[in-house]
Order: sequence, then structure tokens, then C-alpha cells
Amino acid sequence: MVLADLGRRINGALSALNRAPTIDDKLLDAMLKEICTALLESDVNVKLVASLRTRVRSKVKAALEGDKGREAQRKNVVQKAVFDELVGLVNPGVEPYKPKKGQPNVLMAVGLQGNGKTTTCTKLAVYYQKRGFKSCIVCADTFRAGAFDQTRQSATKAKVAYFGSYTETDPVVIAAQGVDKFRKERFEIIIVDTSGRHKQEKDLFQEMEMIGRAVQPDMTILVLDASIGQAAEAQSRAFKESADFGAIIVTKMDGHAKGGGAISAVAATQTPIIFLGTGEHLSDLERFAPEPFISKMLGMGDIQGLVEHMQDIAQQNPEKQKEVMKNLEQGKFSIRDWREQMGNVMNMGPISKFASMIPGLPDMAGSEDEISSKFKRMIYMTDSMTGYELESDGLCFMDMEKDGKTPIRTNWRAQRVARGSGTSVAEVEEMLFQYRMMANMAKGAGGKNGWLQAMQKMQ
Ligand code: GDP
Repeated sequence: MVLADLGRRINGALSALNRAPTIDDKLLDAMLKEICTALLESDVNVKLVASLRTRVRSKVKAALEGDKGREAQRKNVVQKAVFDELVGLVNPGVEPYKPKKGQPNVLMAVGLQGNGKTTTCTKLAVYYQKRGFKSCIVCADTFRAGAFDQTRQSATKAKVAYFGSYTETDPVVIAAQGVDKFRKERFEIIIVDTSGRHKQEKDLFQEMEMIGRAVQPDMTILVLDASIGQAAEAQSRAFKESADFGAIIVTKMDGHAKGGGAISAVAATQTPIIFLGTGEHLSDLERFAPEPFISKMLGMGDIQGLVEHMQDIAQQNPEKQKEVMKNLEQGKFSIRDWREQMGNVMNMGPISKFASMIPGLPDMAGSEDEISSKFKRMIYMTDSMTGYELESDGLCFMDMEKDGKTPIRTNWRAQRVARGSGTSVAEVEEMLFQYRMMANMAKGAGGKNGWLQAMQKMQ
């Protein structure tokens, strides 16, 4: 079952419980059964699923024992227990290495041929490059004919520096030369791509060890294909014995039914997953962290991802961002600020990935083109607004009834904007709703879990 479907199934089970007037054992069992079946269909290991079931049940029991609290609170207890256990399922409890600016960070990629290693190396270089790291790739795969050509082509397309050789046959020499060269040139992310096949498996592991010794990586990354599902555990253990890696990237998560199985199997080996490969394009790489991952899967958004996205944008246009931050500090987030953020985000890469990070963003399911055209229409609407409206917090779009308090929703401003932008009043209202949701998040800035605070903490 692909992740979006898994998320929907689990959500469905939780909502069924929510709709019921009271929680009882029978209801709890039915919900757990549905969740566990969905997890098993995603190839999550039977033992892990069984332990999730037991733990949710005992957590809920302990929390509800003797609790005559309100039904809504009791439902929250169940939801939280399910959420926490799902997070536990994909949480290895280990923090990965974090590349640092202003110094060389050598990342070595290992993994079997065909798993997506070379593609992932370029995606990684692009990812870090976009975030202000000077990035490059060293192709140390001399076993596969054409490996260097593949790197050369994709690195050229991505405008990333690369190193390799058509004549040198010793991968250890190439790796050492390439890393040495790029260190001297003050590159910050140096990615070493290694071979994924040999005549004998033993030789492959030996080669990885030798390259590792020569380049002294700060982090070795195992690249694994999601389609192997829970077999990911055995494969990662086999690699771990020879090439001690510190992180994993699971590729081909797009549309693969066994993705959930692969992720949970990897977590069981206590190695952090750092990214998921979600397609063949260079931007199809998503940061992975347990809690945001589950939150996003369940359609609850990913605030942390959103904050990081905003920070990346800030890197690219620090002056503009400073202005927005200043406004936020004063609790201001106008429609113009929102438009600015949306415009920036659209330049950052696939908008469909960003959309799913926003909690509750309705109707945002669809192809990249559909979502992107929806965002463009939102921008057109703001183009039809006056300066006064753009600087406002959207309240001027609300006419009041005679009592001065009750808003009449559709007013002449919305009608004018709809006409001017070739959209409908309903669309303008939806856009204003989305702006308000974002503004509320932004304005939570002063509060404990505010956006601003989160951003500052992460800097
Ligand atoms: P390597 O042999 O491990 O270096 O694998 P490659 O990088 O050559 O990738 C093998 C195939 O998998 C290529 O056709 C890639 O386009 C494809 N691929 C890699 N990552 C992904 C991914 O995340 N999703 C999808 N759908 N295909 C991928």
C-alpha cells in the first residue's frame, strides 16, 4: 500500500473512533485491527505491528483507567497513543551527522547497483547546493562501464562540479584524488559515489572499506530501494558488517507499496534515515524525520519541514526575509507577506511537496501541474488587490452586518478581485482562508510553539 493510502486508511480508522459517541473495548479493537491490517499490507514486519497493537492498547488502558474525563479528551488519548507509536515505528532513536558550513563534509554513498545510488548522489548535491553549500560529486565506480558518463551527465545537468576518470582503474585512487582536489578547492559537500557490484560480494565490501579508509568520510550513506520492503533490514545488516554506515536513504518511495515496510525495517536497525527518494527528477528528494513524516502521512502537515523550507528561501534572499521576520515579530503577516512567501516557494522546486507540509490545506491533492496552477491563480488574485488590501490582514474582505460584529462573507472587494483575476468569489474566499491559516501559524510567533520561535531555535 503506498504511503498516501496507508495514511488515509489509518486516518479513516481514527475518524471512525472519533465519530462514535463513546469509546469502548470493541471500538478500540476494531480501530487497532484496521490500522494493523493496513500496516501489514504495507509490508511492515508482523512483530513490529503486533508490538504496536499491544503498546497502544496498554497506553490507552493506563491513561483511561478510572478516568471519567470528557469523551473528547479520551479520544485524544487514543489518537496520541496511535500517533506516538507510529512515530516509534519509524524512529531509530539515533541522530544523523549534520553537515556544517564552511568546512569540507565528505559523504560516501554505498549500496547495491540499481538501488538509485548515482541518481541519489546528484540529488543530494543539488539539495545541499540549493541550501548554500558548495557541492560536488566524485565518481569512484570503475566497475560499471558508463558509470562516470552517468555522473558527468547528471552533474552537468544539475550544474554541480564532478570528478572521475576514463583511464584510472583503481577506484581508491580516484576517490582519494577527487576528495583531495575538492577539499583544496574548499568544497563543503563532497559526495563520493562508489561501485554497487563486483564479481564477488566480498570484493565489493573490501573495496568500500578501502575507499572509506582513503577518504575518511564524515558520513557513509547506504542507499536502499524501497521495493525490497522489510528485507531492508537484512540488507542493511549485511552492509553494516563491512561498511559501517551512519545513515540511510530509501529510494523509489514514489508509488511503492512496500515503502512503509522498508522504512520501519530500517528503523529497527537503529540507523537514521535521512532522506527519501521520491522520483526520478533531481528535486525528488525529501528530508526524513520520524515525527514530521508520520504527521504528513496522516495529512496533518509538517510544520518543521515548512520552517526548513522557509529557511532555505531565506538563505537565497536574506534581505527580504529579514523584513518578513521583523513584521512577524510585531505579530504582522499581511497578504503581501504571504504572497511573497508563496512566490518564493514556487521558485524552490516542486510545489506539490510544499503543499503537503501545510496543515489542513484542502484540495491540494493532485498532480504537480494542477497544484502549481492553483498556486498561480492565488498569485493572480493578489495581483488584483489594491495596496490597501495587500497590506491588510484580510479583514477588509469581511463586510459586517448591522450589528457590526457578524461578517457578511462575500463583499464587493472579493467580487472585484475575482473579476480582475479571472477567478470566482469562492476561489478568492478559499485563498483568503488559506492566507489566514498561514497567518495564524505565523502569528503564533509570540506563543510557545510559534513559527518564529521554531525558526529561531533551528538557526
Ligand atoms: P545505481 O546503480 O544504484 O547507481 O542506480 P541509478 O542511480 O542508476 O538508478 C537506477 C534507476 O532507478 C534509474 O532508472 C533511476 O532513474 C531510478 N531511480 C533512482 N531513484 C529513484 C526514485 O527515488 N524513484 C524512482 N521512481 N526511480 C528512481
